[in-house]
Amino acid sequence: MVTITRDHSILAMSPNNEAAARAASGAEVVFQTLDCFSNTITKEDEYFSSVGWDQINPATGPLYIEGAEAGDILKVEILDIRIEDQGVMAVGPGMGVLGEIIKKEATRIIPIKDGKAIFNEKLHLPIKPMIGVIGTAPPNEDIPTGTPGAHGGNMDCKKIAKGATLYLPVNVSGALLAMGDLHAIMGDGEIVICGLEIPGEVKVRVSVIKGETYPLPLLDDGEMVMTIVSAKTVDEAAKQATISMHSILVEKLGMTIEEAGMFLSIGGDLKICQVVDPLMTARMELSKSVFAQYGYNFK
Ligand code: CA
Ligand code: ZN
Repeated sequence: MVTITRDHSILAMSPNNEAAARAASGAEVVFQTLDCFSNTITKEDEYFSSVGWDQINPATGPLYIEGAEAGDILKVEILDIRIEDQGVMAVGPGMGVLGEIIKKEATRIIPIKDGKAIFNEKLHLPIKPMIGVIGTAPPNEDIPTGTPGAHGGNMDCKKIAKGATLYLPVNVSGALLAMGDLHAIMGDGEIVICGLEIPGEVKVRVSVIKGETYPLPLLDDGEMVMTIVSAKTVDEAAKQATISMHSILVEKLGMTIEEAGMFLSIGGDLKICQVVDPLMTARMELSKSVFAQYGYNFK
């Protein structure tokens, strides 16, 4: 199996990035990842402000997938996420939704024991490991790994977890898949700009899908299908995620425009992924049972 080690880290998704490794369609690949601070904060007297911008949000890769060509879809099945036994959180003035309320920088090192994050003596939270940054190369620009977009990137969607399948666009030959920024656990919104940041490794199966069109990025976690969109505002991201799911109901299930709108208003759940990155990310969730009723399967 191909393993891409942490020293193959990039700070931008780019059509010009050199591949760190190559794999055939259908292959399993392991990505070993740094945390979003490049593993530089290891003690509680080390702060976010001391981390250089050239060390924020690295992604491991990119992986060149043989046979992937522009216009194809890359299917990424997340087979496993392993995390280390200690994560970190950092807050500070001006950072995130509470940036005007938090007056000084603070760092917390949080151990993981027996599947729980030991936040403090009272609060032990069951971990739900997820991938913050995962994407392919954009068609003709460099996008920093801290920014989300149509190519995926820093979507910080907590549903991108073990057992889920993520569909991403192929914009350049080989797709150039990269990922990083694992969180042991994160709430929708990621309000102080970090989850429980942690190094680890992700095992995926990558497959090239030809001749199919889905609104991308698209996520299937086995229970729900989700359209994910990033935009300048939460309002716009929410609207576009809704339009994306609506288009699936019309184009794949054959509903009328009006019927699909009505159904989405009672059967769909519009949710926030994150509100703290350079673009905001929202998702529209719909139960997979809806697609099953129509005998429709995603490839
Ligand atoms: Ca992130
Ligand atoms: Zn993160």
